Amino acid sequence: MLLFTPGPTPVPENVRQAMATVSIHHRTPEFEAIFRQTRERLLALLATDEVVMLAATGTGAMEAAVSNLCHHTLLNVNAGKFGERFGKIALAMGLEHVELAYEWDTPTSVDDVMAALHANSNIDAVAIQICESAGGLRHPVEEISAAVKAFNADIMVIVDGITAIGVERVDTSHIDCVIAGSQKAFMLPPGLAILGLSNTAVDTIGSGRGYYFNLASEIQKQRQNTTAYTAATTLVIGLLEVLESIERYGGIGKLYCDTARRAKAVRFALEAIGLHTYPKTPAKAMTTIDDTDASSIRMLLKEEFGVNVAGGQDHLKGKIFRINQMGLIELNEMAWVVNSVELSLALLGRRPYDGTASRTFNEEYFKHKLLPKET
Ligand SMILES: *Cc1c(COP(=O)(O)O)cnc(C)c1O
Repeated sequence: MLLFTPGPTPVPENVRQAMATVSIHHRTPEFEAIFRQTRERLLALLATDEVVMLAATGTGAMEAAVSNLCHHTLLNVNAGKFGERFGKIALAMGLEHVELAYEWDTPTSVDDVMAALHANSNIDAVAIQICESAGGLRHPVEEISAAVKAFNADIMVIVDGITAIGVERVDTSHIDCVIAGSQKAFMLPPGLAILGLSNTAVDTIGSGRGYYFNLASEIQKQRQNTTAYTAATTLVIGLLEVLESIERYGGIGKLYCDTARRAKAVRFALEAIGLHTYPKTPAKAMTTIDDTDASSIRMLLKEEFGVNVAGGQDHLKGKIFRINQMGLIELNEMAWVVNSVELSLALLGRRPYDGTASRTFNEEYFKHKLLPKET
């Protein structure tokens, strides 16, 4: 079965092998060397001043960010389940929160965020997804973070990049905290979360909040290449292997470029067979289609063609399907996925099969190579 859900994503063979070696103790020079190399690579990838790795899922990092960086009122953008989660975390932490809510296909705007900040001077942190995975939606996070920081540099900009970091280049220069998780673009099993922090964020954290998720104690330890509590050793070893695999692939720039081309080619292929892209501003991490037959298409993909894609949640249950674009994806597998969607439409009697989807995918992905040769 091909796993094409936008998290968890398949763990590559070499990464599984790297994690299958004998256990090492976390308080050893051997592990500290692995931790240091991973940390250095993450700092380069995130382009942030500081980085912290936590043994937690992505939600743990969201909670750590909110509790350590917001002391009064959180402004959260809710255009899906994950944006909504920031608001729930604020409530659970006993913080005030103001929410900007949208339909799950609609991005927020600089104007809406700035209007909310002008209306409430207690807001000391803004939380938003780069890609809201519930509908595969891209928010204009770079523009928003630049505007927020220009308005008041003390307001913390917390960005959930769990389905964006490692997928596309993100300008983190106006972001105080950017969050990533292991089981999405990093192609690892779940359980490791990453927070990239600005120097302003480190100052705001001060002596930190909470106990396990106290970022001050983690920063202090991680600067010495160790962790406050037992490190997720196996996942850190896996992460180093992932980051080295990306280097061997040709570097993160090549991965960003190929991901963008592949995501676009898949979208064109599916639109060419009459399907509709759900989000108004599609993110590169996944291809999201809304369709009245979404459930039947997913079932046929699984049962007839061996492809597992994700459905929708809450009010989008049975109304959308989402195809992963994160990680190192084999083109032959991707071509099979779009072809399988076309075959499924044929089985449903929607349109006769003529190979349009895989042809469009290949033509779009390889168009720079298929240009007529100059004579
Ligand atoms: C998956 C996901 C999360 C939550 O991560 P968990 O690891 O399940 O806690 C948060 N935000 C986004 C955008 C995600 O895609």
